[in-house]
Amino acid sequence: MARTQVAIIGAGPSGLLLSQLLHLQGIDNVVLERQSREHVAGRIRAGVLEQGSVDVLLQAQVGERLLNERLVHDGFALGFAGRSFRVDLKGLTGEAVSVYGQTEITKDLTEARIAAGAKLFFDARDVAIGGIDTAHPTVRYAHGGRTQELSCDFIAGCDGYHGVCRRSVPAQAMQSFERIYPFGWLGIMADVPPVSQELIYSNHERGFALCSMRSARRSRYYLQCGLDEPLEAWPDARFWDELRRRLPPQVGETLITGASIEKSIAPLRSFVVEPMKFGRLFLLGDAAHIVPPTGAKGLNLAAADARMLHQALAHYYRTGSTESIDRYSELCLRRVWKAVRFSWWFTTLTHKFSEDPFSHRLQLAELDYLTGSRAALTSMAENYVGLPFGEPPLARSR
Ligand SMILES: Cc1cc2nc3c(=O)[nH]c(=O)nc-3n(C[C@H](O)[C@H](O)[C@H](O)COP(=O)(O)OP(=O)(O)OC[C@H]3O[C@@H](n4cnc5c(N)ncnc54)[C@H](O)[C@@H]3O)c2cc1C
Repeated sequence: MARTQVAIIGAGPSGLLLSQLLHLQGIDNVVLERQSREHVAGRIRAGVLEQGSVDVLLQAQVGERLLNERLVHDGFALGFAGRSFRVDLKGLTGEAVSVYGQTEITKDLTEARIAAGAKLFFDARDVAIGGIDTAHPTVRYAHGGRTQELSCDFIAGCDGYHGVCRRSVPAQAMQSFERIYPFGWLGIMADVPPVSQELIYSNHERGFALCSMRSARRSRYYLQCGLDEPLEAWPDARFWDELRRRLPPQVGETLITGASIEKSIAPLRSFVVEPMKFGRLFLLGDAAHIVPPTGAKGLNLAAADARMLHQALAHYYRTGSTESIDRYSELCLRRVWKAVRFSWWFTTLTHKFSEDPFSHRLQLAELDYLTGSRAALTSMAENYVGLPFGEPPLARSR
């Protein structure tokens, strides 16, 4: 049976980043990914990075292209009641965010791992984990037409919401918390210049809209939509018309449209599992928590988990003390719940939940208050640029 120190299930951002950070600490690891390399590289998802995530990617030595190609955003706009208000992130917090696609991060990490000779297996099917409550966990999987077995010290469950790791924990050992939202996001990507240099989050009585981008020539736009609406009901022309209506008029007038190169509908949910550790299994990223994309926290939380766990494991392998790994869940969850709260709050403020005009008036009143109060704006901006990382698990015992 093959052996490694850490078996990582899933080659999304959390799995790849953890693998790279552990490698730089001299910790042997194997990554098993169910999908093909092309499939993982082609998935279009998040795009807004907190400075803390940029820092950890630099620490992982995969920041060169990011620094060259990212768009640095010092602020974003809130659209409501026919007007647009700029939230000055830099002025309020001293920090900015970076726009750089998750697809690009995944590519950079995959290339770095392969260049370093990583044991990174795509198309690894039927992954099953065992012995997680013992000192010798195992992973069984099918690859290249053969069943393989791996023994390890730890398993990192980086396999997303639908993965196998969280489901391998006895139900009574973990508690989940969930909120399903009664709508989804219809997103399109188009090779047209963004309508604005910064993101616009728009509250409108017809529903929420978001103007985002991936580069100066590639736009990413979203509309709040019904969960049961088929994609075919949204030809490009209808999408552009509806987006224009939901933006402040002076913005909508300058919208440049074009053929979509990607179109999809994603449901929105908040989900947290506690604890994020069971025996020798750690959960990271979407395997442990999901937030609605309003607030752009999903990818950033995944990066924060990888940062925390690699520090904890490095401490364990250096000292033999389990103190750091024992505190992994507690330290991650404190920050996770704050991001869950912020994403829920921002979603509640900007989306249409019912036809009730009273609710919409309350949202407008809150937006009016927010944009008129430096204190309220600072609180929002602090959360948007990213709250400080928790105390590293090794800090106390150094
Ligand atoms: C459509 C969409 C849009 C999003 N937009 C945003 C956004 O704008 N901003 C934001 O911050 N976040 C966004 N997110 C969330 C963000 O993309 C995730 O939080 C992020 O991908 C989490 O990374 P991860 O590595 O934890 O999980 P994932 O990226 O889900 O990676 C998990 C990996 O595990 C693999 N896997 C699953 N099961 C198995 C198995 N049994 N065996 C082996 N491998 C397995 C999967 O194939 C996948 O590659 C979006 C998510 C989606 C789905």
